[in-house]
Parts: sequence; C-alpha cells; structure tokens
Amino acid sequence: MALSGIQIFKLTPKKNCKECGCPTCMAFSMKVAQGAMKIEQCPHMSDEAIASLSEATAPPMKTIKIGAGSEEFSLGGETVMFRHEKTYVSKTRYAVNLCTCMDEAAVDAKLAEIPKVDYERIGERMYVELVNVKCAEGADAAAYTALVQKAAGLGRTMILECSDPEIAKAALEVCKDSKPVLNGANPSNYEAMNAVATAAGVVLGVTGADLNERYDTVAALEKLGNKNLVIDVTGADVKETFANAVLVRRAAIKDQDRTFGYPSIVNLVALAKGDLHLQAALASLFTMKYGSIIVMEQLTYAEALPLYGLRQNVFTDPQKPMKVETGIYPINGADENSIVLTTVDFALTYFVASGEMERSGVPINLVISDAGGLSVLTSWAAGKFSGTTISKYIIENVEPKVKCRKLVIPGKVAVLKGDLEAKLPGWEIIVGPREAVQLVKFLKDLQ
Ligand code: SF4
Repeated sequence: MALSGIQIFKLTPKKNCKECGCPTCMAFSMKVAQGAMKIEQCPHMSDEAIASLSEATAPPMKTIKIGAGSEEFSLGGETVMFRHEKTYVSKTRYAVNLCTCMDEAAVDAKLAEIPKVDYERIGERMYVELVNVKCAEGADAAAYTALVQKAAGLGRTMILECSDPEIAKAALEVCKDSKPVLNGANPSNYEAMNAVATAAGVVLGVTGADLNERYDTVAALEKLGNKNLVIDVTGADVKETFANAVLVRRAAIKDQDRTFGYPSIVNLVALAKGDLHLQAALASLFTMKYGSIIVMEQLTYAEALPLYGLRQNVFTDPQKPMKVETGIYPINGADENSIVLTTVDFALTYFVASGEMERSGVPINLVISDAGGLSVLTSWAAGKFSGTTISKYIIENVEPKVKCRKLVIPGKVAVLKGDLEAKLPGWEIIVGPREAVQLVKFLKDLQ
C-alpha cells in the first residue's frame, strides 16, 4: 500500500536543506506521497531508507517493457484513473491478429496489409506496432512455430497467444530475442508457463475465467518471483470485458492494490469476430478505458486514421501544448529561392496551414519559430510571436539558408508588419490572409 506523507517524512534526514527544491523535508515528503517527486531526489536519503521507500512509493501500476530495439514499447505505469487528473503515461498499442486457424493465403494477405498503414501525425509515427499470433485449439508446435516465424519476418513486436507451455516454448525458440509477450497463463498452467516465460526473459500474460482467477494467478506468479506480467482482461462479452478493464485499473490506482497493478490486453477478435465495424468502435472504447494492448482482426487506414487520432489526443499531457519542432519546412519542393512564410509552432496551426500550402502547389519555405506552442493570436498576446522573436529567428536561422527575401506573416498579426520591416532590412514583409483556408488563392495570386 502507498505511504502517507507523514510516513515518508519519518524516514527523511529532516535537514530542511532545500537541495531537493522543496522548502522543507515535510513538503518533499508530501510531494513524494503524491507521486510528484521521487525519493531519490533527496541527496541525503540513506540507502536503507531509499530501499524501503522506493517500492512503497513506486507508481501503483508497473511499467512493463515489451519488444526490443526500435520496436520496444512501454506499457502501464499509470497513476490516475482519468486523463484530466494528470496525464496518461503509456499509450495503447494495437495488434493485428494472425491465427493457425487461417489458411496460408489469408495469413499472407494479412502480412502484406499490415505495413501499408504507416504515416506521421504531429511528429508521431502511426503504424501497426504489434502482431498477435494465436495458437488455435488443435494446432501443433510445428504449425504454430512456422506461423510465428513467418510473422516475425515483419519485424513487429509479437504477442504469442498460446496456453500450451510446450508449444509456447518451441515458438519462443525462434523469436525470444524480439521480446514478445507470451499470453496464456491461467490457474491450471501458470507454473509451467512461468518457467517458459522466465527462461526466455519475456513478459507473461495472465488470463482466467473471471477476475478472481486472474487475481489469484497473478498473486501466485508474484510469489514465484515473476512481476513481469500483463493481465488479459478479455471476458465472455463486451460488458464483462469493460467491467474487467475498469475494475483492474480501479483496484490498482484507487485501492492501491498492486496485485492488479499491471497493464492489460483486450482481445477484440474474441469479442466480435468477423464484425470489423464493431471492433473499430470497441477499439475506441478500450483506448479510453483501459486497454494497454488491443488486438484486432485488421487495421487498415479506415480504422487507423480515427483510432490513432483518438489515441494521440488521449495520450498527450493536457498540461503541455502540442508543438511541432522549430525549423524551416520546405513545401512543394521549395528551394533557397522560394518565398518564406512564417507561423507559430502550435501543432494544429501548423497542420492546417501546411495542408493548405501543399494544396496551393506553390513552393514555400515554411518557417516555424518557438512560439510556446500557442495559437497565432495567443502567442502574439503573450509576446512569444512578436517582431523581435520572428526577426531574431529569421536572421539566425533563415538568412544563412534562404536567398529569397519575401516574408509572409499571418493576417491576424498584420500589426507586426512595420516592426518587422524595421528589424529585417532588405526583406519585403507581406501580410497574408487571416484564415488558412484563404491561403491557396492568396499564394497562387502572389505567385
Ligand atoms: S534535500 Fe532531503 S534533507 Fe534536504 S530538504 Fe529535501 S528532503 Fe530534506
């Protein structure tokens, strides 16, 4: 159970030296209890105190790593029930399902389809990160291992959905280095599955007939020393699965019950096989509540575009503005002689404006300077998008690279024209339209 601020305070050195950034040891202790600071941030804490406190003050839900290299992902580590309370930590990952019950042509079609979804939105790569490989009833080790090997060729992190320890062991022989999840421990096989997962060094997924079975199996696995787990919350139907997902998260976060403090898997193929529209709707639901991994039958652009957009909105820190990197973005094949247009680094402004610029077909060097991730008028009002900030960025970063001396500024900050003309000698300052939608006509006329 989590410790209170007073309990933590009793173990602090009580020097009130402020080196941790807090005015007193008591203030530090209260922040540690809230999860806002880590116990190690006090340089005077003894090793014994750190050892005894770090486990108790760790987030109620463990952070579990799956995959390897560039395909490594963190799951869990959540500290709140609702995003508005603080922020969610580890985004939901989506898996496309393969099964030994599928014929070869269907498997090949699926494997060819998965890499097609791959695009970038607000600096984040959107693609199918995981592949779930199911061992259907009656499949043997050779058939399952062959399918796993084929799926491994995609280079995506896998979930091996298999409850037979011997088959799982054979499959892990060909893919354990890519650190897949082995999902299939239950009350009847957990000891053998634990041995297989531990020997291969992979995360073990726990399932069961109901939440009590899952709870007891997790507790038993923890007793065996395995805390590298995920909980498959998929129940008999949508209602049960939703209840499982919420209750597991509530037990971990609200009740601080660390036995349920693990990320979750939701398998939509088991809930709505063949109904792709329902799976897409359920994927949205379980992205918000509380699937760490969601397994689906397919993830084409039709499913991916709304789903990844939702995920990006849910798993961003509401306290941090969504920004794009500062820099010069050449659009429509712009070169050093192309006109320069500037706007703010607020992601929404960037994407709306750059989309219209692309539509115009006019080569443009779009210059994004640091405006605090705020919209045009807000950053201007805050002094972050002013004649001084724009001219400084242009002189330092644009003039050495671009020969054209025509600068278009957003119409909403037309008031900056005079200031910029004074601060950027040799530049022609052009006031652009007030709305992005007017850019296409404006740029074509300008050309
Ligand atoms: S650094 Fe440690 S001893 Fe100093 S005020 Fe912070 S908690 Fe107290």
